[in-house]
Amino acid sequence: ASETPEHDVIVIGGGPGGYVAAIKAAQAGLKTACIEKRGALGGTCLNVGCIPSKSLLNNSHIYHQILHDVKNRGIDVEGVKLNLTQMMKAKETSVTGLTKGIEYLFKKNGVEYIKGTATLTGEHEIKVNPLDGGSPETYNAKNIIIATGSEATPFPGLEIDEQRIITSTGAIALTEVPKKMIVIGGGIIGLEMGSVWSRLGSDVTVVEYLGAIGGPGMDADMAKTMQKILSKQGMKFKLNTKVMGGDINTDSIAINVEAAKGGKQETLGADVVLVAIGRRPYTTGLGLENVGVETDERGRIIIDQEYRTKIPHIRVIGDVTFGAMLAHKAEEEGIAAVEYISKGYGHVNYGAIPSVMYTHPEAAWVGLTEQEVKATGKDYNIGSFPFSANSRAKTNLDTEGMVKFITDKETDRILGIHIIGPNAGEMIAEGVLALEYGASAEDIARTSHAHPTLSEAFKEAAMAAFSKPIHA
Ligand code: FAD
Ligand code: NAD
Repeated sequence: ASETPEHDVIVIGGGPGGYVAAIKAAQAGLKTACIEKRGALGGTCLNVGCIPSKSLLNNSHIYHQILHDVKNRGIDVEGVKLNLTQMMKAKETSVTGLTKGIEYLFKKNGVEYIKGTATLTGEHEIKVNPLDGGSPETYNAKNIIIATGSEATPFPGLEIDEQRIITSTGAIALTEVPKKMIVIGGGIIGLEMGSVWSRLGSDVTVVEYLGAIGGPGMDADMAKTMQKILSKQGMKFKLNTKVMGGDINTDSIAINVEAAKGGKQETLGADVVLVAIGRRPYTTGLGLENVGVETDERGRIIIDQEYRTKIPHIRVIGDVTFGAMLAHKAEEEGIAAVEYISKGYGHVNYGAIPSVMYTHPEAAWVGLTEQEVKATGKDYNIGSFPFSANSRAKTNLDTEGMVKFITDKETDRILGIHIIGPNAGEMIAEGVLALEYGASAEDIARTSHAHPTLSEAFKEAAMAAFSKPIHA
């Protein structure tokens, strides 16, 4: 192994956490390298997560809309056919464009891109096994940022082959539409990928252990509304149901389930089973044990509020440590961790990280759920406004969903905002800003929103929380 000159910062992992940290560090004038082993930058998010799933969600929505929702708009179409190969190509074009874009940003900002697998061999030392198979190189760094991300949690007894028993990685790359798909887990991945294949013609059943869909963090009202909407679109749900195991035969898969209460058993048949029961931190081969960096019982690397492990110059961000597994959360942490290194202070407001589920309509939220507010014992107001009373939604014939504000009864300060509706993922940005600035519902209610826009529903929900809406 040869030795290279010392870097100020070496980032391990080129996902949204790692690549943002690397660019920020280089911008701060630090000699920076980023080590990535997958052969492309962008991590889970760009390669097999956020981006490919959103490409398929968008294009499957257009297909579904052409089949079911254009006749009443005065558009007659005939001979509509799915070309799945082309839909997958469109997805790949988006992915490659974006991952190459990060390589360009690395060059522009002077980040050294090292292609290989990193292992910590000392408190300041990293060994890299190059992707091209050459001999290992040793790098030294004053500061190390670990951003190695996460992987799908496997389901015991159902071996993943990414063809018939799949994770999200298989679900963005199927070569045919399965006749029947079972989705284990009604969280965000289950509902997004379930939507894609249901729209393309698959008979999709979601089996969820809990009594509500949406995964952790979705407001109960929103989860119920979303389930109704997705059921209308053809998805089937089995809630309060445990998957016990499965039999994989040559021509079909049998999944055995049991009611969480009462124990009633049933066998469901499928061609493809999507395992979407959560993700777990990924540290395989990283060599944490070589330097004594510790993980908790769920495999998350333990850090303090400044992202430091017990070795202070080794910091950790993104999915591999605590908090929501979201790309924008990892990015904020990447910036903050570098600011701690370069300036001595940094900040992420964890109370104002939005969540978005990109179904149609979308679900988006920020702040506390009504259940969380209730648990604090605080008195609160609810203001909600349905899109069915919003002029733009009516004009667009896209009226499902609503905006819900939860505010402090005494001070009118916004505690949480929950939206189901067209473009909810964009609309929530206003809510995030409101929370960041400590806004009251009155602040929003007295702010002019252009007419006719969907955002007027946002304003009217704030009016409903603060006094009364005009249009409902
Ligand atoms: P990752 O993106 O996982 O990147 C870690 C990188 O480190 C990987 O590329 C890996 O190859 C590399 N690596 C690991 N170990 C080593 C090593 N020893 N040496 C070198 N390299 C290493 N989040 C959203 O906010 N919005 C979405 O719409 C969204 N959609 C998603 C859809 C799907 C199907 C999935 C699976 C996830 C989605 N997520 C979404 C979550 C998002 O992808 C993650 O939160 C985000 O990628 C985390 O970023 P990260 O930088 O922490 O890790
Ligand atoms: P999740 O935690 O969101 O949902 C998993 C669901 O599976 C939960 O509802 C859980 O109750 C259920 N479950 C767990 N074990 C089960 C079992 N044995 N049987 C039946 N149900 C079971 O996890 P996910 O959907 O796999 O997503 C993983 C991560 O990726 C999440 O942290 C999510 O934030 C992130 N992600 C985000 C987006 C987005 O932001 N749009 C999209 C995809 C993924």
